[in-house]
Amino acid sequence: MEEEKCPKCGAPLSEITETPTGRKLRRCSTGVWNTETHKTDGCDYVKWLEVEPQTLDEKCPKCGEPLILQVTRFGKKMKKCSAGGWDKEEKKATGCDYVEWINGTTEKLDEKCPKCGEPLVIFTTAAGKKMKKCSTSGWDREAKQATGCDYILWLKAEFKPQVANGEEFLPPEDIF
Ligand SMILES: [Zn+2]
Ligand SMILES: [Zn+2]
Ligand SMILES: [Zn+2]
Repeated sequence: MEEEKCPKCGAPLSEITETPTGRKLRRCSTGVWNTETHKTDGCDYVKWLEVEPQTLDEKCPKCGEPLILQVTRFGKKMKKCSAGGWDKEEKKATGCDYVEWINGTTEKLDEKCPKCGEPLVIFTTAAGKKMKKCSTSGWDREAKQATGCDYILWLKAEFKPQVANGEEFLPPEDIF
């Protein structure tokens, strides 16, 4: 791999790491993520890498072209039509506009549930809202009711979701 230097401090960048949501990044080698303070110690430069869109074995329900799986800079996942694109000059979608956001993702936390002591998870909804919930909780589809522990803590949004800004149509080099 090509040796890349941190534009902030000139130290080499460290190996590629992958987040639980599938985003890839390289930190400055002098920066270390502190899991207690949830801040970076040392240089905080992070380079986000392009996540290769993955071609799926599914066809677009609108036009029949293959669908691709793409991850946005906020870690949200979506399926979109490979025949779709984004016209930067006209700022509008071109080709097929089929997009399907993929519902929530969960990430494990090193925190214990205050109710039952089982580990907590962070659940991110398709709209980008986050909550901490107990890993023992579930949803009984047949009975249409929650199962397991019912501890939930909604987190404040870290960003304002922008609606229809065309992000979903941008090529990855613009997203990252
Ligand atoms: Zn640095
Ligand atoms: Zn399509
Ligand atoms: Zn619990």
